[in-house]
Amino acid sequence: MEKIIVERRVQSRIPIPEGDFHLSLYTTNQDDKEHLAVVMGQVEEKDNVLVRVHSECFTGDVLGSLRCDCGDQLNRAMNRIAHYGEGVVIYLRQEGRGIGLLDKLRAYNLQDQGLDTVDANLALGHQADERDYSIAAGILADIGVKSIQLMTNNPLKIEALIEGGIPVSKRIPLETDVTLENAEYLFTKAQRMHHMLNLNVMPASIVLGNIGGENEPT
Ligand SMILES: [Zn+2]
Repeated sequence: MEKIIVERRVQSRIPIPEGDFHLSLYTTNQDDKEHLAVVMGQVEEKDNVLVRVHSECFTGDVLGSLRCDCGDQLNRAMNRIAHYGEGVVIYLRQEGRGIGLLDKLRAYNLQDQGLDTVDANLALGHQADERDYSIAAGILADIGVKSIQLMTNNPLKIEALIEGGIPVSKRIPLETDVTLENAEYLFTKAQRMHHMLNLNVMPASIVLGNIGGENEPT
């Protein structure tokens, strides 16, 4: 595979109610997208930097859709970084687990007809998950972090970053509230995509089976 080259094109200060972040826009030799790094504090040359690698989700991140947990996860990660005083959110432009917004919305319609999130992707000719985290590893290397604490429930993301040369010293679970709208989606992620979710916390009103996670305590 072609060696990944990331280039930081511009950096700007972005104040939000929780504090001052700096937004860097990256281009790469892998695609023509604009990937983003949202950074608080001085993280260069530091160990155990708090990091979230987040894949774009227009419906969840912008609209607050309850069909998935993306928006909630992004907010929690930003809040945790602001509370801690430093950290990084890498925002990868791979909408809908990499299938794009058009097919993600088509997949939602298939899910409304009874397919789960994995089978809906397969029915549209995609893989269950087409995301790639190698660009995130490249951006983290460019930022200059030495090792990271990754906020994720996804073991594949940890493996991919380590493979990309970013030491992950710790996983910090990023669990969100289970609702009637997202319960089946979260259940599928835990059961079919090996996400480390503790769905025992699911409200009693949502009965989906007896799948528990293997979560370590936080
Ligand atoms: Zn989402």
